[in-house]
Amino acid sequence: SEFVSTVAHQLRTPLSAIKWTLDILLKDATAGSLSIDQKALLMKAYESNERIINLIRDMLGIDRIESGMFGFSFIEISIIDLINNILEEFASQINRRNITVSVKSPEGLPKISVDPQKMRAVLQNLIENALKYTKEGGTLSLELHVEGDKMKIVVADNGIGIPKEQQADIFKRFFRAENAKAVDPEGSGLGLFIVRTIINRHGGDMTFESEPGKGTKFFLTLPLHHT
Ligand code: ADP
Repeated sequence: SEFVSTVAHQLRTPLSAIKWTLDILLKDATAGSLSIDQKALLMKAYESNERIINLIRDMLGIDRIESGMFGFSFIEISIIDLINNILEEFASQINRRNITVSVKSPEGLPKISVDPQKMRAVLQNLIENALKYTKEGGTLSLELHVEGDKMKIVVADNGIGIPKEQQADIFKRFFRAENAKAVDPEGSGLGLFIVRTIINRHGGDMTFESEPGKGTKFFLTLPLHHT
């Protein structure tokens, strides 16, 4: 764990330098103009670099969870505001891929006590997966309601689904189902592990149902108040 943490930290700085250098070449005319082919090649380098940066971010996230340094601080927030905010971040991807998004929640949904940053990471991950593993023109739906002193959140898509024989493994670190690798060869397989750890630290739990070729639903249950 210490080794991973040190290496990941050491890699971050030069990777950021590469990111900004490529960014300047691609966007800043003062560095000289590029031909279309040169631009396309640099874009590829930029995207690969982004993937490594994201992988390292995930690795550092896990390392902090495992070493107990992942501090949580709970405050009451409107989860709907958080969801709308996250959906705005994904707006261009949603439009580009023509995904129909719906958010359903009853009037006057109460606030919930969460660590806002961590809950953002949870919902970002689930929404990102739903979009990634859904074909163009697909659907993403979020449903929220309260049962007793718990909030239930369902994140559903009508995408590729998870093969039955691999469903038992999807929360394992680095595990990725075969059909997911075909859609996105570069994923890390760390997202759901992080998501479940964060949900558990909130005193909640998480399950899913998935039909290969039809879609996947993730069910989150979270206590309204943190004790
Ligand atoms: P990654 O998306 O980087 O592969 P995750 O940890 O987020 O990693 O997910 C682990 C695996 O669970 C994915 O590789 C995929 O096989 C499966 N999975 C997660 N979400 C979905 C989804 N919405 N639809 C289909 N498969 C999913």
